[in-house]
Amino acid sequence: MVDNSPVSTGTRIVRREIAGSSWRVEADICIVGAGISGISAALEAARLGRKVVLVDGLPALGGQAVNSIIATFCGLYSNGANGYQFTHGIADDILRDLGKLAGALHYQRRPLTTVVYYDEIALSRWVEESVRQAGITVVVGAVLRNVTVEGRRIKEIELATRYGDVKVRATGFVDASGDAALTWQAGFDCREPLNGPVYGTQMVVLENIDETHLPSMAEIGDRMKEKGDAYGLFRRECIPFAIPGRNIVALNMTHIENPLDPLKASVVALEGKMQADRAVMFLRKEFPACFANSRVRAYGLPGVRQTRWIVGTRQLTLADVRAGTRFPDAVARTAWPVELHDHSTGHVWQTFDDDHVHYVPLGSLIPKDADNLLAVGRCIDADTAALSSVRVMGPCIAMGAAAAHALDLAGNGSVQQIDVAALAKRLHDNLESTR
Ligand SMILES: Cc1cc2nc3c(=O)[nH]c(=O)nc-3n(C[C@H](O)[C@H](O)[C@H](O)COP(=O)(O)OP(=O)(O)OC[C@H]3O[C@@H](n4cnc5c(N)ncnc54)[C@H](O)[C@@H]3O)c2cc1C
Repeated sequence: MVDNSPVSTGTRIVRREIAGSSWRVEADICIVGAGISGISAALEAARLGRKVVLVDGLPALGGQAVNSIIATFCGLYSNGANGYQFTHGIADDILRDLGKLAGALHYQRRPLTTVVYYDEIALSRWVEESVRQAGITVVVGAVLRNVTVEGRRIKEIELATRYGDVKVRATGFVDASGDAALTWQAGFDCREPLNGPVYGTQMVVLENIDETHLPSMAEIGDRMKEKGDAYGLFRRECIPFAIPGRNIVALNMTHIENPLDPLKASVVALEGKMQADRAVMFLRKEFPACFANSRVRAYGLPGVRQTRWIVGTRQLTLADVRAGTRFPDAVARTAWPVELHDHSTGHVWQTFDDDHVHYVPLGSLIPKDADNLLAVGRCIDADTAALSSVRVMGPCIAMGAAAAHALDLAGNGSVQQIDVAALAKRLHDNLESTR
């Protein structure tokens, strides 16, 4: 029998207008990159009463913290089993709000330091709701196409989206792209690693594991070293993240290159999944008590650690990190180890004492030839090893907040000339607090 009840059937004919087909937005502060550092910058700038535009090439917010399923906040606490929190601001809000949701957070107090496992879906909704409630203008699925620079200032950026072009004019800009995409497109100097790539990782989430039999990191690593060849594994170590009671685990077991060549990057993305599948096969066969019945629930987007970053007015060095140099213009702190993924089979891991603190100076955030641009997160100026110890999410959050305040203080002037004492006062909690 045919259902003849009324259904809408109307259409209209349309044709693209060539002239005036781009959208325009104006703001005080435009942030390119909606990862954890860009989100922190955007929310802090909005709290300061600034009109904010937040842009991302992905059709989603949260950057790698959400979409690559990073799964753990690191570098947020000082070392030792009873460390205090280094970074506040949105870190406090995330810990408070996700802490109220069953199973969304898990504090792991290790002898070295405290890390916090999080549910990426809960974090994703927290980010989206916080940005929406803050009244931030969001342009997602929007990739940088062109940057207009006049003298030492970025005036406008042009974005390509699947629905057409968008132009954003702003007084100040934040490069939170991770790959220094804004600084690069603006034609300012950038750095890349000298001695080969810093490897990224294809994260994978397995469900239906038996967590009562979860092997330790060391057990899995030893077996990978022994039998990795038989499974075609490149990397020989495993970092598993599991929130107890959920029978799922996020696995960090692969090493992928992250070339800045669009064609190679696309191939590598496919190869990363192949590596992840081999690692899953290895776990099922070698540790059946835990993994025999496991299934892949999700693959993250390719995880990228360090690719290209800015040349700042100051470069953070490994010597600064080891010495815990307290810069007059310090804006963020952490005690996270040097965690440099510079070889395919493993990574360098150099830890610090319980009372160690190292700092990020504002100069590492400011491209040397720019007056209204700051970089935050994993594309600030540091040597390869120093960057590996400050690109984790705790200091990323602090850098985002610092960039918002620096641009707020600069107004129409230069971020190179702001009052660093006034900035330090505003960032008091992230620099001094020991609660
Ligand atoms: C596999 C892996 C595991 C890690 N583990 C941990 C961990 O356990 N704990 C921890 O704290 N840290 C960890 N890190 C480090 C940490 O996750 C990242 O350094 C941090 O999330 C970086 O945040 P970000 O905001 O600087 O950059 P991202 O999160 O990379 O965000 C950058 C954003 O910019 C956008 N973008 C880039 N280019 C353009 C463009 N041209 N146009 C428009 N948008 C653009 C991207 O789409 C992206 O959303 C890990 C990293 C990796 C890769």
